[in-house]
Amino acid sequence: MTKLLQFPENFKWGTATASYQVEGGVYEDGKGESIWDVFSHTPGRVINNENADVACDHYHLWQQDINLMKSLGYKSYRFSLSWPRIFPDGVGRINQAGLDFYSKLIDALLEAGIEPFVTLYHWDLPSALPGAWLNRAIVEAFADYSGTVIKAFGDRVKTWFTINEPLCASHLSYSWGEHAPGLNDLSKGLLAAHHLLLAHGKAVQEVRSAWKDAQVGIVLNMSCVNNDPDAPVSEDIIRHIDGETNRWFIDPIYGRGYPQDMLEDYVKMGALGSISPDFIKPGDMALIAQPTDLLGINYYTRIFVSTPPEDQRETHKFVRKQFPPEQITEMDWEVYPQGFFDILERVHQDYHPKQIMVTENGASYSDGPDESGKVHDQRRIEYFQTHLQALWQAIQAGVPVTAYIAWSLMDNFEWARGYAQRFGLIFIDYATLKRIPKDSAYWYAEVIIRNGIFESKQE
Ligand code: BGC
Repeated sequence: MTKLLQFPENFKWGTATASYQVEGGVYEDGKGESIWDVFSHTPGRVINNENADVACDHYHLWQQDINLMKSLGYKSYRFSLSWPRIFPDGVGRINQAGLDFYSKLIDALLEAGIEPFVTLYHWDLPSALPGAWLNRAIVEAFADYSGTVIKAFGDRVKTWFTINEPLCASHLSYSWGEHAPGLNDLSKGLLAAHHLLLAHGKAVQEVRSAWKDAQVGIVLNMSCVNNDPDAPVSEDIIRHIDGETNRWFIDPIYGRGYPQDMLEDYVKMGALGSISPDFIKPGDMALIAQPTDLLGINYYTRIFVSTPPEDQRETHKFVRKQFPPEQITEMDWEVYPQGFFDILERVHQDYHPKQIMVTENGASYSDGPDESGKVHDQRRIEYFQTHLQALWQAIQAGVPVTAYIAWSLMDNFEWARGYAQRFGLIFIDYATLKRIPKDSAYWYAEVIIRNGIFESKQE
């Protein structure tokens, strides 16, 4: 008999999406333009020049999507609000149709017995805001936007996530050029990161001042950084990558300020003028360190670092290790469930969040329907199985995890990687917009019914 690994009572199971990735309807009902509308329409930015003008057309098919979630027994749903759908100019004028859209979505979720978890910012910034995340004025704009939606929906929404993955919204977007607005300047990445963290602090205050019974926190994508024993880099490189990926964001949230070693590195690299850069104003670090009720963690893979091959050593200090195809997903990300345990355990030991919610975890595999119309995505089931096993172990070890939100409810627009990457439990036929639950969607439904997983892989 295989052992049932039972999750705690009242453990929350759900799935997630993000507005720009699923909604479509980007020019409808008074919505303003977002930086992702601009970016995806700039040739060369997204694979095959794809955009999310239609995406999954969730803006129109939302009721069908809720019905599907309900029929599969999914109990919670993490989605994000499109800021420019509500404030087309970023600030000032409110687009009532935008508020109405989310209001009816929330009502319908509650009616279906699905708990709404709302992310305030998942990257679709109004393009009308001058300077975007580089302009400090954005912090007040974000406070106004978040205050408005928190007041409007907080009677029904009790769990709020402020910023999704500030690492991606800053470095991936401003330092490494891959996401909107596509800049390549480390000093700008650090400035954007600071404003994102301030915006988080403001949103926490907005929740506190409006609702006593709501919980709020940020969502960080975190990964342990491991050195390749066969071709190790210096421990100093590992320290730096860890600082950039993890500590730069979680340290200030938990009141430790920016890590000193990283400030020194960035000064040496010419990205900061001094150890106390002038963009940090009095009171900033306290605002960022507002007490929160939870920490959202997104985990996909670890960072595994190797020495570059001989011919790359002049240009690269390190490389991400390449793994054989059977060990990676179609994003080329290593499948490494132990890393999920490791990061949860580390965050628990080092920062003691009261509560951790796993806000994203999942895998990209492009399996599509067979002749009978079924999608057999066994590799995704195995990914979930092994990661849930690691999560269960972390909970046994005392990590206070209260929720697991799979990424994603359905295939969607995978940012600069376009539509070829499919993370969904539900398959989307982009030509017809037909939804087809994959085998993994039914498998996950069983996990939720049991509130647990069987230990062996042969379920
Ligand atoms: C993001 C999602 C994205 C997923 C897979 C996370 O970084 O929050 O929007 O689709 O990872 O790349």
